[in-house]
Amino acid sequence: MSGDAALRADIVEIGRRMYARGYTASNDGNISVRLGADRLLMTPKSVCKGFMTPDMMCITDLTGRKLEGDRDPSSEMQMHLEVYRQRPDVQAVVHAHPPTATGFAVAGIPLDRAVLAEVLTTLGSIPIAEYATPSTKELPAAVRKHIKAHDGMLLANHGALTVGSDLYGAYYKMETVEHFAKISLVARLLGRENLLSREEVMRLQDLRGSYGIKAPAPICAEAQEDASCQIVQAPAGDGARLVPDIVRRPAGADGDGEIRLTYRELSALIEEAVRSLR
Ligand SMILES: [Zn+2]
Repeated sequence: MSGDAALRADIVEIGRRMYARGYTASNDGNISVRLGADRLLMTPKSVCKGFMTPDMMCITDLTGRKLEGDRDPSSEMQMHLEVYRQRPDVQAVVHAHPPTATGFAVAGIPLDRAVLAEVLTTLGSIPIAEYATPSTKELPAAVRKHIKAHDGMLLANHGALTVGSDLYGAYYKMETVEHFAKISLVARLLGRENLLSREEVMRLQDLRGSYGIKAPAPICAEAQEDASCQIVQAPAGDGARLVPDIVRRPAGADGDGEIRLTYRELSALIEEAVRSLR
């Protein structure tokens, strides 16, 4: 298969997966990939992404002018064009309406809490781009604010957008966004969401390099006006961890002489004390 044919086949397969997983309904969603320096291969408008064939794709230039294809390119093409303009490193863009992530986008709740190590090392935080009418020029403007620092974002009252260094990379980030949204929803329904500490977040950030993960921006704990980093909510200090350290600290070591014991150790001590009183 030539490169073009392989990419057409990849778009068909990713469209099929997105539809099968319920990330899109009806004709929702769109997928694009760079074809060399100045052209894009893109899904057509008004087609169910679950039933595409390779010949349906359009080829456009970077201004969105159609160069090849019987069908017109996606109505949300402008959003894709804006991503390619802002991020020369990005090779592929995926947009869908996965229900749980989109629920967070509707509720106005970003996925920016330090909860899962894998999400932190790959996507960092997942902000929400302000609402804009789909297929208008306002939507690319809303995306522009966040795309330089993020590979994935929610679109307020609309859906989600992910980008990558190839088609599957962009698609897997969409899976991660939806998976993270589901886990966050379950944790919040259960009434507790233990956050990783800021120190742990910084350790995970250091791991990015050793895993060869190329993130577009560093993680930061404080909000920056220019959205130049990935803001993650994580408590300062070595407090909240998913699994608390169970250690016996020597008296006076941390000021108040606190000693932490497991339930079993505490029970054994009480038994011993009771025995000594007999
Ligand atoms: Zn959409």
